[in-house]
Amino acid sequence: TKWVYNFGAGEAEGHAEIKDLLGNKGANLAEMASIGLPVPPGFTLTTEVCSHFEQTGSYPQDLKEQVQKALQILESRAGCKFGDSENPLLVSVRSGARARMPGMMDTVLNVGLNAKTVEALAEQSDDRRFAFDSYRRFIQMYADIVLGVDACHFEKMLQRAKQKRGVKQDHELQVEDLERLVRDYKTRVFVELGEEFPTDPQVQLWGAIGAVFKSWTNPRAKTYRELHDIPEEGGTAANVQAMVFGNMGHDSASGVAFTRNPSNGDNHFYGEFLLNAQGEDVVAGIRTPSELTMQARMAHGNNSPSLEEKMPKVFRELMAIRDQLEKHYKDVQDIEFTIQKGKLYMLQTRSGKRTTQAAIQIAVDMTNEGLITKQQAVMRLHPSQIDQLLHPTIAENAKKQIIAKGLPASPGAAIGKVVFCADEAVQRVSDGEKVILVRNETSPDDIHGLHAAEGVLTTRGGMTSHAAVVARSMGRPCVAGAGHLEIDEAAGKLKIGDLVLEKGDKLSIDGSTGEVLLGEVPTVLPKVTGAFRTLMSWADEYRTMQVRANAETKADAILAKDFGAEGIGLVRTEHMFFAGMRITAMRQMILASDTKDRKDALHRLLFMQREDITELFQIMDGQPVTIRLFDPPLHEFLPNTEAELSYVARAAGVPVERVRRRATELREFNPMLGHRGCRLAITYPEICEMQARAIFGAAAEAGRTSPSKKTPVAEVMVPLVATLEEFKIIKGIIDKTAAAVQKEENVNFTYRVGTMIELPRAALQAGKLAEEAEFFSFGTNDLTQTTYGLSRDDTGTFMSDYKAKGIMAQDPFVTLDEEGVGELIKVAMNRGLSTRPDMKMGICGEHGGDPTSIDFCQRTGLNYVSCSPYRVPIARLAAAQSAL
Ligand code: ADP
Ligand code: MG
Ligand code: MG
Repeated sequence: TKWVYNFGAGEAEGHAEIKDLLGNKGANLAEMASIGLPVPPGFTLTTEVCSHFEQTGSYPQDLKEQVQKALQILESRAGCKFGDSENPLLVSVRSGARARMPGMMDTVLNVGLNAKTVEALAEQSDDRRFAFDSYRRFIQMYADIVLGVDACHFEKMLQRAKQKRGVKQDHELQVEDLERLVRDYKTRVFVELGEEFPTDPQVQLWGAIGAVFKSWTNPRAKTYRELHDIPEEGGTAANVQAMVFGNMGHDSASGVAFTRNPSNGDNHFYGEFLLNAQGEDVVAGIRTPSELTMQARMAHGNNSPSLEEKMPKVFRELMAIRDQLEKHYKDVQDIEFTIQKGKLYMLQTRSGKRTTQAAIQIAVDMTNEGLITKQQAVMRLHPSQIDQLLHPTIAENAKKQIIAKGLPASPGAAIGKVVFCADEAVQRVSDGEKVILVRNETSPDDIHGLHAAEGVLTTRGGMTSHAAVVARSMGRPCVAGAGHLEIDEAAGKLKIGDLVLEKGDKLSIDGSTGEVLLGEVPTVLPKVTGAFRTLMSWADEYRTMQVRANAETKADAILAKDFGAEGIGLVRTEHMFFAGMRITAMRQMILASDTKDRKDALHRLLFMQREDITELFQIMDGQPVTIRLFDPPLHEFLPNTEAELSYVARAAGVPVERVRRRATELREFNPMLGHRGCRLAITYPEICEMQARAIFGAAAEAGRTSPSKKTPVAEVMVPLVATLEEFKIIKGIIDKTAAAVQKEENVNFTYRVGTMIELPRAALQAGKLAEEAEFFSFGTNDLTQTTYGLSRDDTGTFMSDYKAKGIMAQDPFVTLDEEGVGELIKVAMNRGLSTRPDMKMGICGEHGGDPTSIDFCQRTGLNYVSCSPYRVPIARLAAAQSAL
């Protein structure tokens, strides 16, 4: 087996397509090397070595030999020798899995240094300070990562050395300070471990490789995989690469960049660098970095010169590489580079993580630039990402008190209580509070807190700092590097000039502008505009299924229409009865002691319902509106407690005894399978008749008053049907009422009567039902409950066991169960269509907004999906993707 792949000197054994084997980093280093970019030479130990190591506890037999060969090739490419006391090669040993897990696993730099090689390095570079800076970094990193010595020991010693010297920054230390640090570090290692720090470069190399492979299973990497659904198997590759040095003085630097703005998608080169530093310093937020371009520097009011100004030649080279990478990968890249004495090296490239807003802008721009096609643009986003855009932003005319400003690192508004630590964020959120995590900077140990928080605010670090990158990937708003804030964590206080906020005080942040705002600021929902609108219109070109919304209020219907719904797929009429006055009328109807009382109450309900439905028809303007007849058991409208009983009795004007008796009468052992759905219309035909009157009255009125002269399309839907006989009786009432209304109002309107399929019996009897039913709508929430014999409201106690034991991969109430529920849908469709070949069918459960379930609907040939208004854009994109 080939365990090791070489790269460098304009060629490579691997390439970008074999990420599974070489990991993302290794595959892209190979690719960059082979397209001629300046990549320091190196080799990659494959992910298979990691798996072998994990399974057997040891390396493959022939690995040592392959590594030694690769090392020889590396030495000849780099022109120096590993461990040589005159011309030593130093290497980095870098982790890199298939899936991107930035910063989650370990990397060791400057491997190969010892008392001899450090002298050679000093001699060769003619810079003793640099050599010992590299050496102390190496001991610090190696001891922490490979030997497991607590990093805080070294932090403290470094702090003390700076104090002694009276300086603030690491790079201000003198060579004597560094030499002393190296000695002290080594002593500390001996004290902690009772063993000397390893001096043999071979031992160091294999120690680092082992640590990199082991870091696959470190706790924070595991948490990260859990949060991002990355499989546990797979492992990481290990990349051994010749070191280049960004800490070789003031013509050296390290930096990171995105080829375009990852926050809003602007086509501007976007990144940061630090002079005289090794790459880790940039991401760790040790010093605040400088901008790459002059334009960005001015926009952020940053005084330190940009790379463009400081090193114009290198900058131009970097710009050319930026173009080359985008043309080659046809996507935004996230790159790491180092400049050693004015010479540029590329250390990493990968597809850049971006916010949804940026993803859309970039996909549309790249299409217009001819880099990708429209179809590719539509396929670029995962539909669930769109959810981010449908979140609130700060209202434009909101009164706001800006107390600080940082960098706009991840867009959107977040409001919550100030907390300073990740654990507390998690604690408070599980108690039902909303929090903003405020920190100087974040580290991979904070990811659980970032996940829990509404948003993140940091005082240090730039747009590519850890907090910013993670917040963008999680869709959390983030303001980074708000330098005027001062955190006093011990006292639980946040100071901004004279203003002091306590832990738990409310704060708002605007990740689109970088503003930090006092208290709670009003927010608004975004609109589908600009590039988002363009991309959605492209999606609609390829989409073949219709997307409708589930809505009963005017506000929801308007939102749904704005978001591109092509009709309403489900109006839950009972929701119209729960609000305000209506519930009283509803209760009077249920409590009525004679037919006259009941008719009076129904009459009042009729007017309210007709008014509501008229509005829906008007908003949808000629698009179909599917109205479901009353569905829940009546007892849901009656109270339980004594206090409520007497309140209801008074409001309805009936004796409290009657309310109590009726509530007892209506109580059921298993209401979900009880007197509900069409069973109510069988027992109380007057309710059904009232609803039909309201619907057709509304259709007549909306038709008469329509400015566009479009005819309303009313689809009346009967819930929980099991037999054809039930459906026939109810359809009889509806047809009779429709004829009566048409005559009374002297107008025509289009209507259809159909049924929900939400019982297995209905699915099996679909052929018969289709003789009368003019459409089917699969109510997949109830159909899942009745197929599994599983109550949706009671899965909480055992669903996690089922997932853990692999019995259910997904919650069937979130993603449609294709094997069971899906099979019933297919049976029902086939049988329904054989009776009525032109029958329209759709689904209206929660599943209508779930991309995986939408894909099933497309494959099965449904005509439409209907989902909550907020999910309509998601469904449009998902439907387009499954059509492509
Ligand atoms: P991560 O996956 O956490 O980004 P990397 O393997 O990319 O870890 O290493 C972190 C940083 O170390 C890089 O950004 C780079 O600046 C520095 N680094 C890694 N390899 C080298 C090298 N061969 N020469 C110089 N710097 C390196
Ligand atoms: Mg990296
Ligand atoms: Mg139902």
